[in-house]
Amino acid sequence: MNLGLLAERVAARTPRATAVMSADGTAMDFATLARRARSLAYQFRARGIYPGERVALAMSNHDSFFEILLGAWQAGLIVAPMNSRLLPAEAEALMANCGARLCIATPELAQGIAAVSSRDILDVDSDTYRRASAGEDANPAVELPMGAGAWLFYTSGTTGRAKGATLTHHNLQAMIDSFLADSGCAVDEAMLHTAPLSHAGGLLGLAFLQQGLPQVVMPTGALDAPAVRRALLLHRRSSLFAVPTLLNRLADPDFLGEASRGRVAKIMFGGAPMYAQDLKRAIAALGAMRLWGGYGQGEAPCTIAHIPSELLADSGEHDREELLGSVGIPRTGVELRIADESGQALPVGEAGEVQVRGRVVMAGYWNDQSATDKAFQDGWLRTGDIGRVGSTGLLTLVDRAKDMVISGGSNIYPREIEETLLRHPAVREAAVVGCPDREWGEVPVAFVVLRTPATAAELEKFCLASIARYKRPREYRFVEELPKSSYGKILKAELRATLDARHLANPKEIQ
Ligand code: AMP
Repeated sequence: MNLGLLAERVAARTPRATAVMSADGTAMDFATLARRARSLAYQFRARGIYPGERVALAMSNHDSFFEILLGAWQAGLIVAPMNSRLLPAEAEALMANCGARLCIATPELAQGIAAVSSRDILDVDSDTYRRASAGEDANPAVELPMGAGAWLFYTSGTTGRAKGATLTHHNLQAMIDSFLADSGCAVDEAMLHTAPLSHAGGLLGLAFLQQGLPQVVMPTGALDAPAVRRALLLHRRSSLFAVPTLLNRLADPDFLGEASRGRVAKIMFGGAPMYAQDLKRAIAALGAMRLWGGYGQGEAPCTIAHIPSELLADSGEHDREELLGSVGIPRTGVELRIADESGQALPVGEAGEVQVRGRVVMAGYWNDQSATDKAFQDGWLRTGDIGRVGSTGLLTLVDRAKDMVISGGSNIYPREIEETLLRHPAVREAAVVGCPDREWGEVPVAFVVLRTPATAAELEKFCLASIARYKRPREYRFVEELPKSSYGKILKAELRATLDARHLANPKEIQ
C-alpha cells in the first residue's frame, strides 16, 4: 500500500475538483496535484534518493505541502515534517537524527538552515523546485512492504532527546478510517488549515484529501480575525483543526461574525487540554454540532478518544460536568485501558496511565530501540498521560505523568487546580507547575493570566472552597501571557525554569 496514490485515485474520479486552495483563492485541482506529485517523485529518484530514505520538511504552511508528501511517498521516501519555529540548529539535530537526505524548506527557513547544515536544501519557492514539480516524467509508485514508514512525527517536547514516532502508511490509513468513522467531518466541506501542517492539521488533512475535498492553506501565524474570516468565505463550508487557544478565540462573538461563522462546518479541537469552562463558552457561542473534540498524540496520530458533537449537544447519556471535563470515548479501531506501573489494568474510576493498542499505533521511534522499548508495555502504547475511565465509559485525563506534582507524598494533578481557577470570573488562563520544596518535595505554584483584577488572596479563598487544602497553590504569579508552543501547548518546562530556588532555601516563606 502506498498513500502517495491518494490524489491519483481522486483524480481518476473527479479530476477537476479543487484539491488545494491558497488563502488568496488560487486553486489547484486533483489532476494537477497528482501530476505534480508524480513529477516530484521522479525528481527525488533522479537525485539519487532511494526508497526508505528520509526527506525533512522545514516549512511554514505552504500550498506545496501535500504534493511533497504525495511525491515523497510515491518514491517510497519517509517525510519528516518539522516544527517551523525550531531554530536552525534544532532542525539540523532532527535531520541528523533521521539522516535526512534532503531538506525541503520554505524560503524564510532555507537560509538559516543552510548556515548550519551541509545537507541538500531545496527551497519551495525556487526555480529548481518549480521545474521539479512541473515535469511530465513519472515512475510507477514504489510498491511498499507492510510496515513501511511514511511520516516521522517528532515529539513536540522542547527539551530532551528528539524522538521521531515512525508512522507507517498503514498507521495513517487507520487514522483516516477512524477519522471518517468518528468525526462527522470530510463530507462536503473544505479543510481550512489554520494550524501548522507539520502537526495534527496536516495529518487530518489526509482524510479530506482521500475524500476528494479541498485543503485551504492559511499562512502560518495569520490568525487575526479578518484573515480567518476571509479564508472561511472562500468556500461554502469548511472544517478546521483548532488547539484550545484558537477555539477560545473563535468562540469570542466578535472574532468570526455572522457570515463567516455560518461557513464553519466543524471545529476539531484538541492537541492540548480543553478546560470545561472554556468548552461551555464555545458550545454557547458556536453550537455543539459545530464542535468535535479529539485526543491523540504523535505516537497514535490524532486517534485515541473523542467527544462526538452529539454528546456535546447533550444526549443525556452522561453526566454533563464529567463529559465536558473529559476527552470522551475511545476512537473506532482503538483499544484503551488504564494501567498501573506494573502494567495491570485498573478498575473503573481509578487513575493510572492511559495505554492504547490498535492499527493506528506507531511502529516505534526512529532508530531508537531503547525509547521504543520504554514506550510499550506488553504490546500497549504507554501514552504518558494519566487518566481514569468513569462508569459511563468517559475518559478523563487528569494530567501528563511528568506534570504531576508530588507534595508530601500526595499526588496533585495540576489540571484539577487549573480547572478550578478557570471557574473564577477574573481568570483567563492558568497553568500550575510543581516547584521544588525542601519540606514537601514539591508544592504547586499557579501562573495566572487575569481578565479583570484579582488578588492572590481572593484566588486562594476561591480554591479552598472547592479543592483540598494540600492541593492549593502556595504562590500565584500573575503574568501577561503563558508561554506556548506553536502547536498551542503551554510550555510548562519554561514556567518551571522561572521558579527560583527560594522555596528550597526557605520553605517557611510559603507555608
Ligand atoms: P503531541 O504528540 O505533540 O501531539 O502531544 C500529545 C499530548 O498532548 C497527549 O499525550 C496529551 O498529553 C496532550 N493532548 C492531546 N490532545 C489532548 C486533548 N484533547 N486533551 C488533553 N490533552 C491532550
